[in-house]
Amino acid sequence: MDETWAAAVAQDVSPSLAVPGETIEFGHRIALTFDDGPDPATTPAILDVLRDYHVKGTFFVIGARAEQHPELIDRIVSEGHTLGNHTYYHRDLTKLTPELVSRELQDTQAVIDEVLGEHSQITLFRPPCGAPYITQMEGLPVFQEAMREQRLYPVMWTIDSRDWALENQPESIVDNLAQSTPEGGGVVLLHDTQPQTVEALPKVIERYSAAGLKFTGVRDLLAEKYGVDPNGIEADPDATRPSTPLQPEVSDNNHLSDLNSLAECLS
Ligand SMILES: [Zn+2]
Repeated sequence: MDETWAAAVAQDVSPSLAVPGETIEFGHRIALTFDDGPDPATTPAILDVLRDYHVKGTFFVIGARAEQHPELIDRIVSEGHTLGNHTYYHRDLTKLTPELVSRELQDTQAVIDEVLGEHSQITLFRPPCGAPYITQMEGLPVFQEAMREQRLYPVMWTIDSRDWALENQPESIVDNLAQSTPEGGGVVLLHDTQPQTVEALPKVIERYSAAGLKFTGVRDLLAEKYGVDPNGIEADPDATRPSTPLQPEVSDNNHLSDLNSLAECLS
């Protein structure tokens, strides 16, 4: 992992995907990404749909929720999807000290190691609130330093479903994506915590397929962009993983109750 990441850094001081201002050719492909889970009320149904349609997604999980629902982390990995880090408590990293930033990132990695029973490096990161790319741009240098320190690729999105804001309106999610998706494809932001997303997902997939778009993974897009394979967690039953899990050292800068509101933003 370090070698491939270093190769990417050699080309780009902060290797990333789909950040604002970046020009990417998606080649008529779509990468589905799901944030903020795992959620026992909705994530299993999202996984059922993806399985039925033979589509692989990327799940940017919150560490505290992964700790609460380890069986869902196991299922995400065992069914061939990719895991990404979305902080431990869904924190806007630009508002934290460097020490707390490290804790948010490392604690999430540690919980996943504990769940899987072995160390398997997460390489993808989805920043809560889109910060600093959407807000807090002044925090970009510090943020990029944290990404370099943790060997993470920040992954933003190019198509926002706004599913979280469309409660009880699955058809609106489908229409919104149909209208906002470029012909060339892109990276789609969804949330596996939203019942309306469960309802919309089959039609979203069918519409994309009917439009001639193919499904791909974030890791494949990164691999093409940098000419390296961004190793990380994805299902590969034959892969041998390093055997020493990180030990969780959960920060006390927050409380689980905060997760009910995901206080700062819904991205
Ligand atoms: Zn989020």
